[in-house]
Amino acid sequence: MLKPEQIFKGIAASKGISVGKPFVYRAEVPSYKVDVLPSSVISVENEINDYNLAVKQSIKELNKIFSLAQEKLDEKNLQIFEAQLSFLNDEFFHNKIKDRISRESKQAFVVFKEEIQILENAIVSSADEYIRERVNDIEELKNRVLRNLLKGRLVSKITENSIVIAKNLSPSDTILFSSRNLLGIATDLGGINSHVALISRALRIPAVVAMHDISLNITNDDFLIIDGYKGLVIKNPHEQTIEYYGKQIEKNREIERKLEELEKLPSETKDGKSVKLSTNLEFNNEVDYVVTHFGCDVGLYRTEHLFMEEGDFPDEESQYIQYRFLAEHIYPKSVTIRTFDIGGDKILPDSQKESNPFLGWRGIRICLDKKEIFLTQLRAILRASSGGNLKIMLPMISGIEEVKKSLELIEKAKGQLKERNQKFDEKIEVGVMIEVPSAVLLAEEIGKFVDFFSIGTNDLVQYTLAVDRDSSLVHELYEKFHPAVLRMIDMTVKAAKKNNIHVSVCGEMASDQYASLLLVGLGITELSVISLSYLQIKKLIRLINYSDAQKVAEKVVKLKSINEVKEYIEDCFKKYIGEKIA
Ligand code: PEP
Ligand code: MG
Repeated sequence: MLKPEQIFKGIAASKGISVGKPFVYRAEVPSYKVDVLPSSVISVENEINDYNLAVKQSIKELNKIFSLAQEKLDEKNLQIFEAQLSFLNDEFFHNKIKDRISRESKQAFVVFKEEIQILENAIVSSADEYIRERVNDIEELKNRVLRNLLKGRLVSKITENSIVIAKNLSPSDTILFSSRNLLGIATDLGGINSHVALISRALRIPAVVAMHDISLNITNDDFLIIDGYKGLVIKNPHEQTIEYYGKQIEKNREIERKLEELEKLPSETKDGKSVKLSTNLEFNNEVDYVVTHFGCDVGLYRTEHLFMEEGDFPDEESQYIQYRFLAEHIYPKSVTIRTFDIGGDKILPDSQKESNPFLGWRGIRICLDKKEIFLTQLRAILRASSGGNLKIMLPMISGIEEVKKSLELIEKAKGQLKERNQKFDEKIEVGVMIEVPSAVLLAEEIGKFVDFFSIGTNDLVQYTLAVDRDSSLVHELYEKFHPAVLRMIDMTVKAAKKNNIHVSVCGEMASDQYASLLLVGLGITELSVISLSYLQIKKLIRLINYSDAQKVAEKVVKLKSINEVKEYIEDCFKKYIGEKIA
C-alpha cells in the first residue's frame, strides 16, 4: 500500500532542495544501531584493536578536558575527571574485557557494556551515598568509550546519499556528516543562526531547523524531500509533489546560471560607488570555488573547524599548513583569519558544561586564559603571513583590556618567531569582531588600538536583545531589524570613521538582500557574505544607487520599532529595486 504523504514545517535555515532517503541520527549511545553479530563472523583481533583505540582516544579527550578543567574547577570537582582518568588507566579492567572478547568471541562493545553494567550495579547498591552518586560519572565514561568504539560504524551507516534527521546536531556532528554524501539536514531543535545552520549554508546543503519532533516521526524506511526555501520536510511525497519539486530544482538551476553571469562584473552601485564584497569561509575545500567563481577576499575564516575535526587543539605545524594553504591559494587576495572562537555551542559536547555557554568561557576569553594555545595559533598564522595577505581577527572582544592583552600576545608570538629566525608579515593587520554590545559602546576607544572592525551580527543580535541565537523557542524575537541592533551598527560605523579604520560586516546579516541595502547606506565599507549569497548580493549592489541607500539608512536609524523598520525597508526595496531581483 502507498504510504501517506506528510508535511513537516520548521524554520528554513539553508536554501536548496534535495530528494532522498533519510538517515535518522541519534547521538545518545543507547540508540546506536549496531547489530550484535554471531561469534562465527567476529574477528577477535579487530575487536581488541578497536577497544584499545577507543580507550586511547577517550584518555586523550579526558586529558584535554582535565587540563581545561584545571583552570576553572575547584579540587573537589576536579576529582570527577581524575577518577574517570584513573578508571580509564585501569589495566586490570581492560584485560578482563579483552580476555572475555577472545574467550567468548564477542564484540568489544557488547562485553564493555556488560562489564560496566556489573560495575554500575555494585555502585548503586553501595550504602555510601557519595559512592552511589558516582554512577553518573561512570555513565558519562561509558558513553565516551562507546562513542569512540562505535564511531566508525556510525559513520559507515551514511555512505549512501542521505538527508540527516536528528534531534539536534552539534557543529562537530555536522562536520562529521559533511564529509559524507550529505543531502540535507533537518533537526527538532536549533535556530536560524545556530552554527549548524551556518555550516549547512557554507556547505550549500539544504537545512530546516526547529521541526519539534521530526526525529520521532521519520524512520530510515521513509523517503523524503527537504525544502530549505520554505522550511519543509515532506515524508513519502506523492507523485505530483515529486514532479513539482523536480521542476523547482530545474528553475533554481536556471536562476543560478543567470547569476553566474555576474561573476566577472564589478561590485559597484549604479552611481559608481564600489562596495567591497568578500566571502566567509568555513572549510579549506571551499577555496577553489571561491577563487574560480568570485576571485574575492575572504572576510572571515573561522578556525574552529580545525579544533572540532580533531577534537583537540591542533599543533603549530598542522595549523601553519592549513593557513599557508589558504594564503597561497587566495593570493593576491587577502584572508582574515579569526582566532579560535571555541565555546558557546562550538565546544565538544560534554567537555565544559555551563548553564549559559554563550555567556561563558568563549572566544578570546579561552585564548587569554590558555595562552599557550593562543600563542601556538598566532605563531602559525604569522608564519603563514609572509606573503603579506593575511589579517588577524579577534572574536568576542568586550573591552580594552582584552584588546591590549591580545596585542601583547601577538607581539610575544612575533618575538618568538624572530628568535627562531622565521619570517612573517611585520605589518600584519589586527582587527576585532564587534559583536558584544560593550564593544560597540567602547568602539571609539577600541578603534585606537586596531586596524579594522568587523561586525558579527549573529552574536550582536543575540547579545543586544538577550535572545539565544540557538533557541527555537525564542527565534521570533531574534530580529536583525530591531532598532537597537541598527543603532549599534550605526554607532560602530561612526566610531570606525572617527578612527579612520575600515569596518565590515561578516555576520549573516550581510548576506540578506534587504539588510545589505541598509548596511551599504550606513557606510559599511565591506560586506563579507556566505558564498551561497555572494552573487545575489552583488546583483543587489549593482541595482542600487549609493545615494538612495544612504537616504534609506538615514531614515531607518531614527525609526523606533521593528515593524516600522521592516515596512520602510520593504517599501524602499520595491521603490528602488522592484521586481528586478530574483
Ligand atoms: C557573528 O557572530 O556574526 C560571527 C560572524 O561569528 P560566529 O557566527 O562565528 O559567532
Ligand atoms: Mg560571533
